Order: sequence, then C-alpha cells, then structure tokens
Amino acid sequence: MNRSRSTAVTGFSEADAGRESRPEGRSVEELLFWINCIGAPVLVLEMHTLAIRHANDCAAAFFLRERDGFSGRVVGEVAGGEAEMMLGQVWSTSPAGAIGQPFLIRGLVNDQERMLMVRATRIVVDGEDLRLFTFTDAPPEGSVTLAGWQHNMMEILNWLPFGFEIADNEDKIQFANAQCRTLFGYEQHELQTAEDWWRLAYPDPQYREYAKRKWEAEILAARTENREMTPFDLEVATASSETRTIQFRHRTIGSFNINLFLDVTRERAYERELRTLAGTDPLTGAMNRRRFFDEAAPLFEAGIPVAVLMLDIDHFKGINDAYGHASGDLVLREFTRRCAAALRNGDRLARFGGEEFAILLPNVTLEPAASMAERLRAAIVGRPFGVLDTKLSVTTSIGVTRRMPGETMDAVISRADGALYEAKRSGRNRVVVAEG
Ligand code: GH3
Ligand code: MG
Ligand code: MG
Repeated sequence: MNRSRSTAVTGFSEADAGRESRPEGRSVEELLFWINCIGAPVLVLEMHTLAIRHANDCAAAFFLRERDGFSGRVVGEVAGGEAEMMLGQVWSTSPAGAIGQPFLIRGLVNDQERMLMVRATRIVVDGEDLRLFTFTDAPPEGSVTLAGWQHNMMEILNWLPFGFEIADNEDKIQFANAQCRTLFGYEQHELQTAEDWWRLAYPDPQYREYAKRKWEAEILAARTENREMTPFDLEVATASSETRTIQFRHRTIGSFNINLFLDVTRERAYERELRTLAGTDPLTGAMNRRRFFDEAAPLFEAGIPVAVLMLDIDHFKGINDAYGHASGDLVLREFTRRCAAALRNGDRLARFGGEEFAILLPNVTLEPAASMAERLRAAIVGRPFGVLDTKLSVTTSIGVTRRMPGETMDAVISRADGALYEAKRSGRNRVVVAEG
C-alpha cells in the first residue's frame, strides 16, 4: 500500500526504477515538481557529506525560520547534530523506487526538539546517487508502534558494550552502533569506503594483507557451510594510533550480515601473563618442565636437530645442610643466572625440579653441545658463589646428548640423564657425552 502510493507520488514506477535503463535517473526539474506534490517535508541529500541538494516547499516551511534557502547547508544545520548522525546511519535503506521502513530520529526544528519519523529512498538525479527523506512527526511517545519499538532497539544497540554493525547482503553498512565509533575513534567521513577502513585500521601493508585474507577465508568458509564465522582476533589501529586486540564475529541472519567487534585487549594480555606464569619456575625465573616440553614440541615436529643437556648441582644437600635452605635458594638463582648468561637467543633453560636443570640447544650437533656444556661447567666452578658472607665453591655435573630422528623428548632426556649419572659416578664436576 505504502509502496504503490510512493511510486505514484515520486513518479518512479517499479518498471523504470532500475538504473540500467536510465543511468542518469531523473532531471532536477522533474524531481522538484514531484517532491512539491508531497504534503510532508522532503529533503534530498548527498550520500557522504549529508549536504542538502534539494528540498520541497513543505521542508522550507518546516525547517527554516527565515526563508534563506537550503543551499550550501548540511542536514545537521537545519535538523540538529543528532538527526544528522542518525540519518547517516541509515544509508542504502531501500532501493530506488521503494520507500524505506519508517525510523525515528530526534531532530532540532527551529530550536525545538522533536521526534520525527523518517522514511528514506535512493534516487538518481542527473546521474548523482542521492537519498530522499520524508519527515513527519512521530507518534506520541509511549504508544505501541513499530517506530517506538525501533527507537528502543536503537537505544539498546547503542548501549551494547561492543561494536555492532548491520550490513546488507552486498556488505554495505546500514547501521553501526555507538561502540563502533568509540572503539576505533574514526569519524564517519574518514570511512567512506571499505578501503578506507583497511588502510586506517591496518597501517602495516603486510599485516593488512594478512587481515584481508583472514576475513575473506573465514567469511567464505562460514557462508559456504551456512554457519556463524569462526571468531578470530586481529590487532587494529585506532584513530589515536593505539593498537587494540579485536575479536571479530560475523553471522548472516535473514538478508542481513551482522558484524560484532569485541575489544579483548585486556583479556588477551591477561591470558599471556597467566600462560607465562604457568610456565615459569617462581624461584629462578627459568621455564618449568612443562613449558620446556611445550616449546620443544614444534622443533621436534619440524625435524630441527637439537641437543639436550641435563645438569645437576653437586652435593647440593650439603649446601642446604651447612648454610640453610635460604642460602640454597640463592645458589639456585645464581646458578640459573650464570647458565642463562652463557646461552644464545633461542636456547631454552628449564628447572626440572630441586637442583636439576635441562637445556635445549636447537640446530646444534653433539660436538658444539659438548663445548657448551664444558663452558657452563667452567662458569659454575670458575668463580665462587657469594652467599651471605661466605664464598661457596659450587660444581655441577652435566650429561649431553642429541636427538636422533623420530625420538621422543622422553627418550632423549632419559639418555642425557644416563650421561649425567655417569658424570656423577665418575667423580662429579664433569661433562659426559652420550652418542645417540
Ligand atoms: P648429588 O651430587 O648426588 O646430586 O647430591 P645432591 O646433594 O646434590 O643431591 P640430592 O638429590 O641428595 O639432594 C638435593 C637436595 O636439594 C635435596 C633437597 O632438599 C634440595 N632441594 C630441592 N629443592 C630445593 C629448593 O627449592 N631449594 C633448596 N634450597 N633446596 C632444595
Ligand atoms: Mg645434586
Ligand atoms: Mg638432584
């Protein structure tokens, strides 16, 4: 009913609404004639700037106190900033020739706040893609109407603590809630095309390519399998050049595509912190046995050659007995510090428990591994450990081996342990190498 009436008034019939048949659309004269036939205010706006291109006489009487015309003005100047913002959110509402669903805006008309019911449609005038809005007073507040419900819905969406976006089935954004703006901080005029978004949010071209490919692959998979997109995180640059970790979610509901943007920066930082804590020995700061195994796994899987050293402090019980447990702890820390200082980037040092340590050397064969073990032994025995007022002589025994192809970590460690046992048995403070 609405649809056929609007067709008659604006002169657009369903048949010639298609832009292929008349890409230039209507002339300005035709447009002015028809919009002046409408008994409600009509504004025709440019799509991105919201500049007023045309208006009917009703609009002049409604919006303008003085008749100085609309030319050169944007819609915010005659209907207020909030109205401008809300009108900016309903672009592409309905195709040419069809009048859109009504929606409510809060307008400022002659300095008075008014709830206005607005309908929008696309039109082409002299080749320019424009939006035609008709304005009427909204039904009284509290009356149960679709428009009232929609108004509440918009308020709810704006209140949500995450970005919420509705796009049409060509992925053109139809609605973006308040969080979308506050989350990233970009102004609407900065984000006129999708390319603007990619360029601003991902300033590093390489990461931008990765982000694009991620989106394309995940959306394609979700749409092919008719399911919600598998959520993923990306590092996004905000308008103030901060980097935030955003979880992206996407789902198609009816003819709409829904995008959610969740700021998970704090959660991810906390997760990283917990993961580090869970993998760290609190006394020495070295990694623990579990993380040692976790970090070795991908190297083993990739077939990267590795050497493993097992270290055990000699007669450590005696240090505890003579100087106390706290002194023993200081020795463990200094022992860790000296080992770490001798290692390269990429080598891993773990405290397996007590006074027993393991070292993983990636891309190292048996001979240089044995040299490294010898350097470590010398670094421990070479200089006494200062504990309280005493200088303690500390020594360590070390077993060395390398991983043979296909071996498990347990097997490698067991052989290194055998060599360590041999070092203890044959007098301590020495390195024993076990061939694979
Ligand atoms: P060996 O040369 O044969 O290795 O003799 P050892 O005395 O070093 O070996 P043993 O296994 O008999 O003793 C290890 C001692 O380490 C026993 C235990 O009380 C002590 N220990 C284990 N964990 C800690 C710790 O966190 N702090 C301190 N201070 N001592 C610890
Ligand atoms: Mg010991
Ligand atoms: Mg021991």
